[in-house]
Amino acid sequence: MTLYAGPVFEMARQQFHIIADHLDIPLDERERLLLPKRAICVSCPIHMDDGRTAVFQGFRVQHHLTLGPAKGGTRFAPGVDLGEVAALAVWMSWKCALAELPYGGGKGGVAVDPSALSLRELENLSRRYMQEMIPFVGPRIDVMAPDMGTNEQVMAWFMDTYSMYQGVTVPEIVTGKPVGSGGTLGRREATGHGVAFLAVRALDRLQIDPTNASAIIQGFGNVGSHAALGLAARGVRVTGISDHMIALYDPRGLDAGAAAAHVARHGSLKGFADAAEVGPREFLALPCDVLAPCAIERVIDAEIAALLQCRVLAEGANGPTTPDADEVLAQRNREIFVVPDILCNAGGVIVSYFEWVQDLQQYFWSREEVMDRLERALERSWNKVVERAERDGISGRMAAMAIGVERVRAAKLSRGLFP
Ligand code: GLU
Repeated sequence: MTLYAGPVFEMARQQFHIIADHLDIPLDERERLLLPKRAICVSCPIHMDDGRTAVFQGFRVQHHLTLGPAKGGTRFAPGVDLGEVAALAVWMSWKCALAELPYGGGKGGVAVDPSALSLRELENLSRRYMQEMIPFVGPRIDVMAPDMGTNEQVMAWFMDTYSMYQGVTVPEIVTGKPVGSGGTLGRREATGHGVAFLAVRALDRLQIDPTNASAIIQGFGNVGSHAALGLAARGVRVTGISDHMIALYDPRGLDAGAAAAHVARHGSLKGFADAAEVGPREFLALPCDVLAPCAIERVIDAEIAALLQCRVLAEGANGPTTPDADEVLAQRNREIFVVPDILCNAGGVIVSYFEWVQDLQQYFWSREEVMDRLERALERSWNKVVERAERDGISGRMAAMAIGVERVRAAKLSRGLFP
């Protein structure tokens, strides 16, 4: 048993052992690859608006540092715990390695409902969390980014707090910052854009014309909303969208741009459009060409996997599909083409890498340059995964993870053990 007990870490562990068996990795090498290098737990006391002091638990896990700094988002959500953050850090490692980025995986989180905080309380918490992390992070040690419940503003507060302690502006300490504070053009929409790009790549492979295809998107935060916009821009009809409050379905199509504007104004999809409201599980099993889960982990279990009616499962979220569901999908592999999370949502961290490079060089690129490099990077990863899956007769997820794990393993083996 490890420190990281819990269902999400258990899922990352199970997936890893499936790959390790496939790659014949000796047992004595496995813990070195799977167990996180460092885990930091902090208490963040802050002043609340009513004069009380509240304390929030914060975490950061650096899975490995073999290929460069740890890299990954920071999540603000009520249920965050060490096991979940560790699993997400492990997935970041395989994701960065698959995309050939010079990073290990990292992830952080604070157990808090950010929607229950005022703006000032959110700033206090963001600054205090970064301040507690200062001894453990750095542009060459660990580089944070947004994740669920955090955004460009939170990254600006992280960057400012770190910079004030250093006495100089250090934009390269976080990515996903506002463009005016050293962020890059294209980062905000990068993850969703990548999901749409790869979903259409998968439709092409199945010889489905995108302009005759429909898509259902679960989650309408940064990833889901930009995936919906990206799919709509490629001619795909968006027939279902959902968030934590409501799931909407209209086979005639929903206006993704108007939905994004509604959410910006009202904070949720509630009250948007004259579409049928459906239950959250039923929503995932509606007929469509592309189903893109873009919310949280473990939403597609074995029961839902058996009911899915999509042709492409484009995983915008991290870990949306459980290993039990994978077994069901393996049996349905001629019916459903899975674009696995570490490939499908890699657009975010790829453009984060571009942001870090631009900050280090203090030389900024045009939006076209960013998007062009992003699409070329995704295309390379897509080709590697498809070729590997065909060569070894394995699923796309196994192929993607095998490539990621192999790269980390090769780096660890060639560097050897110190001392
Ligand atoms: N949080 C995002 C992810 O899960 C982005 C990480 C990053 O940009 O570093 O991939």
